[in-house]
Amino acid sequence: MLQIHQFPCLSDNYGFLAHDPAIGETAAIDTPDATEYLAQAKKQGWTITQIWNTHWHPDHAGGNQAIKDATGCKIIGPRNEADKIPAIDEAVGAGDSVNLGSITAQIMDVPGHTLGHIAYHLPTEKTAFVGDAVFALGCGRVFEGTPDMMWASLSALKALPEDTALYCAHEYTAANAKFAITIEPDNPDLQAYVDDINTSRAAGKWTVPTLLSRELATNPFLRANEAHLQAAMGHAGDAVATFAEIRRRKDKF
Ligand code: ZN
Ligand code: FE
Repeated sequence: MLQIHQFPCLSDNYGFLAHDPAIGETAAIDTPDATEYLAQAKKQGWTITQIWNTHWHPDHAGGNQAIKDATGCKIIGPRNEADKIPAIDEAVGAGDSVNLGSITAQIMDVPGHTLGHIAYHLPTEKTAFVGDAVFALGCGRVFEGTPDMMWASLSALKALPEDTALYCAHEYTAANAKFAITIEPDNPDLQAYVDDINTSRAAGKWTVPTLLSRELATNPFLRANEAHLQAAMGHAGDAVATFAEIRRRKDKF
């Protein structure tokens, strides 16, 4: 059974170390801060043997070289932006899988935030490391891709088993909640979620990981296929245009 050690780093990133106790391997999920990752691994008594990058942004791959220098770990990252991943050893994409001890992660291509962004889905652990593709009540900004590309990526994530825990890379949830309720003010599941988020954050608690089932019921970016949202955004019958409009509003919010 996989052990996941989560810790805040930089201003609003989460660090994740995934550890297979049977084999003793540890994967660093992204590398926002090499010093913090190495310190957290040491505290756990773990040695980082792999890095799994989701995308090239410096708050995700900036610590690659320093962690590799310190541990000799193997770096796995997205094939479609491999040229931007420092010290990459193995480039992967949709259809590939990577192993941590006895645990398998299936690679999903989820472009849009960046053109090569990937997610790591661990079916036996009901876990997905999704980087900046999707957040609790949010999704990544569409920096490099297009709205239809991003909607296709979110649709692939939506199709994972509903009991999948989504390990998002940032604690953006309180701000996302303020926005989400403007899009779907009458959604009772969203109202309850916003209350829970405000309570959690007031108590200093993390809102990551989140459960896919809850996001499917509340996250406006995952709900662009809902007829009433399409109508409200002025794009009846068009999920991509609805997604694009929600994203446009969030970018200005
Ligand atoms: Zn990013
Ligand atoms: Fe990020």
